[in-house]
Amino acid sequence: MSMFEGIPVDVGVIYEGERIRRKDMYVELGGPNIKEKFELTRVKKPEEVEDGKVSIIGSDIKDMEEGKSYPLGILIEVAGPKLEPELEGVIERRIHEYCNFIEGFMHLNQRYDIWLRLSKKSFQKGLNSFQYIGKVLHTLFKSELPIIEKMQVTFITDPEKVKELYNEALQIYEARDARARGLKDEEVDKFYGCVLCQSFAPTHVCVITPQRYSNCGAISWFDGRAAASIDPKGPVFPIEKGELLDPVKGEFSGVNETAKKRTLGEITKVWLYTAFGYPHTSCGCFEGVAFYIPEVDGFGIIHRGYKDIAVNGLPFSTLADSTAGGRQVDGFHGISIEYMRSPKFLQADGGWKRVVWIPKEVKERVKDFIPTELVGKIATEEDAKTIDELKAFLKERNHPIVEQWKEEVVAVEEAVPAEAVEEMAPGPIITAPTLPITAGGFKIILKDAKIYAKKVIIRQIKTEKSKKR
Ligand code: SF4
Repeated sequence: MSMFEGIPVDVGVIYEGERIRRKDMYVELGGPNIKEKFELTRVKKPEEVEDGKVSIIGSDIKDMEEGKSYPLGILIEVAGPKLEPELEGVIERRIHEYCNFIEGFMHLNQRYDIWLRLSKKSFQKGLNSFQYIGKVLHTLFKSELPIIEKMQVTFITDPEKVKELYNEALQIYEARDARARGLKDEEVDKFYGCVLCQSFAPTHVCVITPQRYSNCGAISWFDGRAAASIDPKGPVFPIEKGELLDPVKGEFSGVNETAKKRTLGEITKVWLYTAFGYPHTSCGCFEGVAFYIPEVDGFGIIHRGYKDIAVNGLPFSTLADSTAGGRQVDGFHGISIEYMRSPKFLQADGGWKRVVWIPKEVKERVKDFIPTELVGKIATEEDAKTIDELKAFLKERNHPIVEQWKEEVVAVEEAVPAEAVEEMAPGPIITAPTLPITAGGFKIILKDAKIYAKKVIIRQIKTEKSKKR
């Protein structure tokens, strides 16, 4: 008898990675159109949990209107003698994986940012109640993580109730993150890796260190350690740090070896604390993107919830597309909010001194971790909406990057005549493991690119700052 007897659709690992486009969806739960949504796991006393119980507070799927988006909270309560509150984050992250096992049911992101879709096809097959989804989750959690003795699932769609619990959930996430702060990368000899997102980005492996929280913001180093110990064959595993090859960029021989092995040779080197060279790969679940702005030689940061366009004229979705997919793209870097609170945050690139623009909402959240003298020098959408406004703001506030501009102009003027033509010796002029080119509405990605040229023309661009000098 199948484990999933009575479930109207198929359930299995083959459905992981399945995308449901808007035109194919029956309903959407959470997602960008809904402010309040969450998923949360709590460890409870055995008497507080009724094993196998699935409750629905608010409308069930069958009462929802086709094509609409609804708020959703998923609350999973578990009990078992070996369960500790430290395991809540780890169990919670599995909701993503197990929901994606259900045919025609897509789950993206995590915590306060969940985005689910049910396909029309699966709805027509009879998947019209959260009861079925709860039953699948119960079966999968209990068979994969035997440490869970009792489990009950509650789906909340009543908007008022979702709102109330959403605010509580935010406090619980913050308390979890705060617990994990303080430990340094230098103080441990193991990091943890996670390949849960390889179903969407096959060349992605998260390297979770005490000071580099996972990209999704849902797994700390402590969570990684707990996950690897309760489920040694699961997606989270220990990484021996090995030799420290570069303390500033954050290169470790053990991390390189693991990345190579887990990505079947696609990624051979990872620099943990930089967005250039061999940056940590980005799957698609990152909470935010640090994007390089060449005009000011600084970084902008945008988070998933930011609805407007960023200061460089691009929305989150476009910046995320340039970043995601398990690649190492210079200057496009998937990050978690918690990593922004780390002293190792973009350390090799200048850290906060290199950040020039950030949405106000995120700035408020991480304000206490930005060096005090820089807080007023980093623009938000209220200070700058365009690159020109950003330049003016940075100059007016005397952001440290402005000094950098002066040095660069002097260096360029000394080194380069207005136009120089250089005959090239044989051999490539550019080599890059991944080189994205955007042309005529298409994006072309060159792998292991080597570009040859007979001549290189270097022409000085007359920028505002060079014209003035
Ligand atoms: S973003 Fe990273 S840590 Fe988070 S689930 Fe995906 S692979 Fe794991």
